[in-house]
Amino acid sequence: MKLIVIGAVAAGTSAAAKARRNQDDLDIVIYEKDQDISYSGCGLPYFIGEEVESIDQLTPRNPAFFKKKYNIDIHTGHLVMGINYQEKKVSVKNLATDEVFTDTFDKLVIATGAKTSLPPIEGVDLSHVFSLRTPANARRIKAFIDHEQPKEAVIVGTGFIGFEMLENLMALDIKVTIVEMMDKITPNLDRDMADYLEALLIKKKITIMKETTVTKVDNHQVALNTGEVLNADMVIMATGVKPNVDLAQTIGVELGTTGAIKVDNKMETNLSDVYACGDCIETNHLLAQDAVYRPLGSTANKTGRIAGDALTGGSLRFKGIIGTSIYKLFDLTIANTGLNEREARREGYDVVISHNIKPDKPAYFGGTEMCIKSIADQTSGKLLGVQIVGREGVDKRIDIFATLITYGATVDELFHLDLAYAPPFSTTKDPVHYSGMILD
Ligand code: FAD
Repeated sequence: MKLIVIGAVAAGTSAAAKARRNQDDLDIVIYEKDQDISYSGCGLPYFIGEEVESIDQLTPRNPAFFKKKYNIDIHTGHLVMGINYQEKKVSVKNLATDEVFTDTFDKLVIATGAKTSLPPIEGVDLSHVFSLRTPANARRIKAFIDHEQPKEAVIVGTGFIGFEMLENLMALDIKVTIVEMMDKITPNLDRDMADYLEALLIKKKITIMKETTVTKVDNHQVALNTGEVLNADMVIMATGVKPNVDLAQTIGVELGTTGAIKVDNKMETNLSDVYACGDCIETNHLLAQDAVYRPLGSTANKTGRIAGDALTGGSLRFKGIIGTSIYKLFDLTIANTGLNEREARREGYDVVISHNIKPDKPAYFGGTEMCIKSIADQTSGKLLGVQIVGREGVDKRIDIFATLITYGATVDELFHLDLAYAPPFSTTKDPVHYSGMILD
């Protein structure tokens, strides 16, 4: 039996590695159009900001590693151009030689990921305008900075990539203005939490322009819808991604309401023996009716593993996500899990909210303010979602909340949690306990 995987980053390599662990005699081939494989895209902003010394640290594996450890053949620089589902064949172009050949499969995994979504702005194709998705993008940005020594940059978008780039460009002494089309920053936070974060950033002298769009990019300037013009030696477009589904669509793979590939809990598409995983699929949300598109590395690894398991007869099934995410911005950490307030209301929950501002540990141990917004359903008493902006210990608290929400905890259970306490880590009643006390 032969497995062909298209795409060799998080999802594709996870699927292939799990399939190999389950089945020794499977022929496994991965085609990847780019040169880098199985890399940490999440570390790329920190390579640009020189916190990660070498990009090799983010791309530690090569095809030889996969051959030796898993007996998997990865062909980089090979674009899958087409799929013949009836004959179970793919046509592949070797991008180095332009040779086109066909290969056959019994099972196919589509792990084609996502691509940057760029707004149609004049000048967006200029050589000092960048997006960040791959190590190749990061190398280009780094080479540009090293060579051109830009003094001023404009970043478009206040999602986590925009903010991570803000921090990392500022670490290189580049003056940055961040432009956001919406009337609030950062899509994962409700307005009240976004405003709280924005106030902290303004205190740090960060220039954020909301309700502002870029209308044109020139060599050293960016024109805005407001009529203003900003100086910009470089521009970063952090305007989101969309699922890479073109190839899947050509063989009739069904897309869901989000525009990403629809899969069942085995990661199988509507076509039998054709699986999909990672950033090209949509997932079910444990607290919402409709599927969601949340392209994250955490989910890509998990869904890849499930695809590899299921296609080799394993019993691993996907349970769904609750949309947990986290990022760092200077000394701040921003995290969220579950539904936000707007989503909870849209889903018809009887929403009750609490804001809990407490130190993450005692003042004598350097405790600083942590702001937790919790969203619960008054009728069932269940916790639905949490957003946190703080400095230290946000990661621990958000994961406690994510676990509670996953297992359907009610608010009154929060206070009773037997959480670890010592002054270097938390307060006697942890901020998690307080959230339960306020909401109860
Ligand atoms: P991709 O990484 O998109 O890989 C798909 C691969 O398929 C690509 O290499 C592509 O070349 C290949 N391909 C596509 N079509 C073809 C074809 N026809 N033939 C051959 N090859 C093809 N996630 C988190 O959870 N936490 C984070 O902190 C985080 N930070 C991030 C920071 C940055 C800057 C970026 C860019 C992403 C970050 N992510 C984060 C998201 C995470 O990196 C992605 O969710 C993850 O890489 C998705 O993996 P994937 O394998 O599904 O898709």
